[in-house]
Amino acid sequence: MIYNQILVRFGDLTLKGKNQRDFLHRLYDLVALKMQGLKVTIENTHDRIYIHLNGEEVAEVQRRLEYVSGISSYSLVVRCENDLQIMKQTALELMKDIVSKETTFKVETKRSNKNYPLHSMEVTKQIAGYVLANHNLLRVDVHHPEVTLHVELKGNACYLYNAEYRAMGGYPVGVAGKGLLMLSGGIDSPVAGYLAMKQGIEIECVHFESTPLTSIESAQKVMDLVKIMARYAPKNKINLHMVPFKELHMALLEHIPESYTITIMRRMMYRIASQLAERKNCLCIVNGESVGQVASQTLRSMHTINSVTTIPVLRPLCTYDKQEIILLSRRMQCYDISIKPFEDCCTVYVPKAPATAPRLDKCEVFEKSFDFSSMVDAAVEQTNSITISVDSDIDLSLLGLEVREVLQELKNK
Ligand code: ATP
Ligand code: MG
Repeated sequence: MIYNQILVRFGDLTLKGKNQRDFLHRLYDLVALKMQGLKVTIENTHDRIYIHLNGEEVAEVQRRLEYVSGISSYSLVVRCENDLQIMKQTALELMKDIVSKETTFKVETKRSNKNYPLHSMEVTKQIAGYVLANHNLLRVDVHHPEVTLHVELKGNACYLYNAEYRAMGGYPVGVAGKGLLMLSGGIDSPVAGYLAMKQGIEIECVHFESTPLTSIESAQKVMDLVKIMARYAPKNKINLHMVPFKELHMALLEHIPESYTITIMRRMMYRIASQLAERKNCLCIVNGESVGQVASQTLRSMHTINSVTTIPVLRPLCTYDKQEIILLSRRMQCYDISIKPFEDCCTVYVPKAPATAPRLDKCEVFEKSFDFSSMVDAAVEQTNSITISVDSDIDLSLLGLEVREVLQELKNK
């Protein structure tokens, strides 16, 4: 492998002033964090980052770059002195490294160093001529080349590369503040969390668990998903708040007409999430709802459910179809965990005919039939918070005593 550096681009910085400085510092920190433990060294400049490979395995560095929001693209580059003879020789070595069959190519030069004595056209001509004369598999095609050899003159150096890889894009996670992700064990919510982080929102997660109405494995799934999402997080870790939801869940099944149980269950979830968001300084709730996907996600349902809170509820997936969501889920490596068949509280006791246009006035009447609000407060108080990092050993005992007892009960059955 001839490449000795990775050139990391941030894309257009539309942010100005202090925000831009904040953006850059967060990005520098994020790249450094994700590269921890590797042999690389990192050179930060105002418009890009150079990762010096120092012999590190390039595939591993590329894998970790997948986890950095705020990077628009990157290239594997060979950096050399800007001496023309050295540039020609390095270009030839790069082309020998990557071309092993008949191939068309062109050279494209960008000269950011305006003091460089040769113009870009001249550099292109010199390098292309030299490579062509010394590599017998190459032919020039300036319109549709199979390989474009980029030559960039910047500062005292020359950077040569032949490909640009798209990265996560967006903003460095954390730059936009914090949000509370409603995380189920399904496919959608981890993807919603990914998109929120991509947009710069640091996340904490809340999960409503109804063990033993739901299986203990669904709680395990949620922890496994948080562990994967932590790869994208600042400090490589995410707080997970497990809300004991069984009591409320049972009360809902007992006191609410079947067609309204899901609507009102979700109103309770939003109420609890809003309280937790406030306590954890989260400025919004994020969830995996997508318009029209299920009965509780029609616009009318969303309207009726959302009216219990004034905190912004972000739904990054609201216009996505399932295939687009699955693609992202696979990219994050969450899909295989998400499809494990354990039910969560929205999938047990699903009513046969849930209301698709639930009325707010009816919800309010039903909710008055029982003292749900003290149960909401109790659930918030009894919430068990844990921190999961990329290298946490995921073990149900993390969830605390209550769940361990449930586990024991299940084992004894
Ligand atoms: P997912 O695939 O994320 O489970 P879904 O399409 O199955 O989503 P619902 O079950 O209706 O849809 O849930 C919609 C959203 O509500 C989820 O994406 C998630 O954000 C939130 N949610 C549902 N159940 C829970 C839960 N038990 N704990 C926390 N959040 C939940
Ligand atoms: Mg679900």
